[in-house]
Amino acid sequence: MYDNIEELKAKVDICRNCKLCTTRMHTVFGEGNEKAKIMFIGEGPGGDEDIKGRPFVGKAGKLMDNAFDIVGIKREDVYIANIIKCRPPHNRDPEKDEIAGCINYLRNQVILIKPKIIVLLGRISLQTILGEENKITASRGKWQEKKGIFYMPTWHPAALLRDETKKIDFIYDLKKVLEKANE
Ligand code: URA
Repeated sequence: MYDNIEELKAKVDICRNCKLCTTRMHTVFGEGNEKAKIMFIGEGPGGDEDIKGRPFVGKAGKLMDNAFDIVGIKREDVYIANIIKCRPPHNRDPEKDEIAGCINYLRNQVILIKPKIIVLLGRISLQTILGEENKITASRGKWQEKKGIFYMPTWHPAALLRDETKKIDFIYDLKKVLEKANE
């Protein structure tokens, strides 16, 4: 456990807990407001994130930014992180041992940031945080509360690239999130 974000980030930067350290270009620790009420948790870095070392800066990130603009969420007000900090080759799903080697970093981030709300972006994020019994189609858009944190599962922004109709759900979920943050 680290009691400040900089030390934790420095630890992640040199992490060799799993095989992804051999193929990554950059770790993607996460970024944003360290006092954010809203934290977004994605799956893991893709190619653009691996190059830049920042979360959601590729196509899916552009879609997320666009939805943020529509709803009135500013990136600088929220915190954005991922379940795993290194890109899996060919953007495959993270494997169990990779998640196991990485999840404590995210736990530490949540403890330090203390968000009121966590938005779970997609199946991997939902099932890793709230349990495998949660299905994204059934859970999406429904609040779950656990240990004083409100969780909102929603579509992963990459899913919006494949199916435009999901954008309506995504924006609707983000509106609910912003409303609760302002309560
Ligand atoms: N997809 C994710 O899950 N996270 C990112 O940072 C980028 C794409």
